[in-house]
Amino acid sequence: MSAVETPTPTQPHTNPLDADPDIHRLIKAEAERQEHTLEMIASENHTSAAVMAANGSCLTNKYCEGYPKKRYYSGCEFYDDIEQIAIDRVNQLFGCQYANVQPHSGANANLAAFAAVLEPGDTFLSVVLSDGGHLTHGSTVNYSGKWFKPVHYPLVYDESRDDFGCIDYDAVDALAAEHQPKLILCGYSAYPRTINFERFRQAADSCGALLMADIAHIAGLVAGGAHPSPFPHCDIVTTTTHKTLRGPRGGLIMTNSEDLAKKIDRAVFPGTQGGPLMNTIAGKAICFGEALRDDFKTYAANVVANAQSLAAALIDKGWELTSRGTDNHLIVVDFTRTHPDLTGKDAANWLETAGIISSKSTVPNDQRSPFVTSGVRLGTPALTTRGLNEDDMKTVADLIDRVWNSAGDEATLKAVRSDVVDLCKQHPMPH
Ligand SMILES: *Cc1c(COP(=O)(O)O)cnc(C)c1O
Repeated sequence: MSAVETPTPTQPHTNPLDADPDIHRLIKAEAERQEHTLEMIASENHTSAAVMAANGSCLTNKYCEGYPKKRYYSGCEFYDDIEQIAIDRVNQLFGCQYANVQPHSGANANLAAFAAVLEPGDTFLSVVLSDGGHLTHGSTVNYSGKWFKPVHYPLVYDESRDDFGCIDYDAVDALAAEHQPKLILCGYSAYPRTINFERFRQAADSCGALLMADIAHIAGLVAGGAHPSPFPHCDIVTTTTHKTLRGPRGGLIMTNSEDLAKKIDRAVFPGTQGGPLMNTIAGKAICFGEALRDDFKTYAANVVANAQSLAAALIDKGWELTSRGTDNHLIVVDFTRTHPDLTGKDAANWLETAGIISSKSTVPNDQRSPFVTSGVRLGTPALTTRGLNEDDMKTVADLIDRVWNSAGDEATLKAVRSDVVDLCKQHPMPH
């Protein structure tokens, strides 16, 4: 007989969030929203219950400034193992030698990578931002454009060319020769085509620049073998962990160079961050473990197959896509020629009313502002996580086509909303 009696819980089924009914109500409403809408923002996904449990665990209580076995605080014994497991899994997953798993986000990863290898005023090459680049790739409102000197390379705008809408690699070569950048940056937020890392390596070698890839969007495809790897071609690879990789919201930096690894570690901490989010790092470790499993390869392949099915169905209905299709998880519908009066803003708002969540997007040579735009970006990572397949994508294309052809007609949006709920009910959240 045990000496201590187990006390009978007085409230056996309470949720800890009942302590704050205001926030609890909103979290429940958000869970309901996610369950009954089609999440087609290309940078979003539904992470696993295990990742969410780690993210919401007691690990959030601890300060662990420093790195495994080199901490500035006591009590880090379990955290060293957690962070080391995360690092080891990254190296296995992406085939690299060094990883820093501490960046709080993709933006923080890029800040630290720049801080590791660039001095204020240094020149770097990145894509024309309205052609699919990210804010942290040299926007005038971001540190990357204020502290450094970005020079932007274009896409191929000539419609008669087979590689219309793809990176203009010859222009990259020419700009590298002209500006002698210290770093060339590839990797994008709204680019539907495969990135030729080998070709970028040649451009970097031609001017002695470092080559950095920001694979924030395609990391899950790279991990799952559905997009070529940036290694061994790139010197530094940054990414988020919450997009196609399907982990917790966070960042990550990888390299194969011991020298760069040391500079990157110092640039993350103490250079640009304080204490790491160890709860998130545990979630990242779980996500990397999930991505190492065979079923993640199937997931990555399905994400691409679904995007291609969606692309084909929309093209069939007369919609135009940037670069005329996709090799990856996203498409950008360009209204400029086919529907010149339709804006990305209206198109995305009508979709939202109908329960399809997307993002407006600038298109190459967009004449409208980033708040209005002439396009919509659509991605398949989250729908694929819910188990939608290539046939379902044809249904989704029908719904989108009905919404955009309705010119915002209320009755049509309401009817589509009800079809969206039916489709969601056929594909409940996987957890
Ligand atoms: C999303 C994204 C980022 C930034 O990630 P955050 O976690 O939102 O800071 C950086 N680079 C690219 C290419 C992205 O698409």
